[in-house]
Amino acid sequence: MKITNVRACQPIAENSPGDWRTSLGQTLVAVDTDVGVTGYGVGGGGAAGTHVVETVLRDLLLGESPEPVEALWERMYAATLAFGRKGIAVMAVSGVDLALWDLRGKLAGEPVAKLLGGAVGEPIPTYGTFWSDLTPEMVGEHTAFKLHVEHRGDGDRIDGIVRAVEQAWALLGPETGLMLDAWMRWDEATTLAVAEAVEPLGVGWIEEPLSPDDLDGYARIVERCAIPIAGGEHEFTAAAFRPLIERGLHAVLQPDVCWCGGMTELVKIYEMANAAGVRVCPHRGCEVWGLHAIAALDQQPLAESGRPWMTWVGGQPAVEAGSITLSDRPGFGVEIDEANLPGV
Ligand SMILES: [Mg+2]
Repeated sequence: MKITNVRACQPIAENSPGDWRTSLGQTLVAVDTDVGVTGYGVGGGGAAGTHVVETVLRDLLLGESPEPVEALWERMYAATLAFGRKGIAVMAVSGVDLALWDLRGKLAGEPVAKLLGGAVGEPIPTYGTFWSDLTPEMVGEHTAFKLHVEHRGDGDRIDGIVRAVEQAWALLGPETGLMLDAWMRWDEATTLAVAEAVEPLGVGWIEEPLSPDDLDGYARIVERCAIPIAGGEHEFTAAAFRPLIERGLHAVLQPDVCWCGGMTELVKIYEMANAAGVRVCPHRGCEVWGLHAIAALDQQPLAESGRPWMTWVGGQPAVEAGSITLSDRPGFGVEIDEANLPGV
């Protein structure tokens, strides 16, 4: 069996946000084979990511067997090393890797979760991520909620953040989990002050308070912060997750499988984290690409809400009353209508 083509494009559906998540956003990758089966994956990097797929990665994969996925990953990483390692090039590799895993599942007639040693059909609890205030009708949609607070409290920053958390807490009550996301926008002092103020409310974690490059800063805050620190959403490759685990910098790791290097890397991250007793909670875990890993590898499964504007990835399960359940369709189980991709 041989790879006959590697294709990429960037579908843009209505309601796609007017920021980098669109301009450099999610790409669809297709890997075609001479047995008539196509694997699909989602990567990132917009037109730049597509260019990496259609030049370097396609040249490397044409005529190769799609079966040794891990070996192909090493070759893709080596081929992009000069300009890659983190960011858009690894997002492009991620999309191709996921397409190869989809192909692997389709050729075996099994869901990816089963290839990873797990099962499908069990409900997985979900949490919803929101940028605006929570409203009463949202309560019950998820088992936990995460509030983006990086943009709150201008002028009187910590008080504004704490007020937003208290409002959410009053709405949700003690039975529903509540987490906070600072999206790399705080400093150490802000993190510690917010943590101290909201600690009595039992906040589940504070996510990405500092830059992902500031490992020493993370080392200092985890020493002094009573609330678990989460991170890793903007980190790339298992090699980069290793020091996060070895130095104990995050209580919760949040790799994004469409960015961090694909399933090949997410499996390695899970193996390292599970061995060290560190929780993994993949970014956008309700999207099938991460959900199959959660179903198979996660010791404390919790799937984050996905991107609602990515309607072109068909066949994904829906969140129902705080949980989501994978089907037994082979591969990732997605349905891609290539003739009607929005914006392509
Ligand atoms: Mg986040």
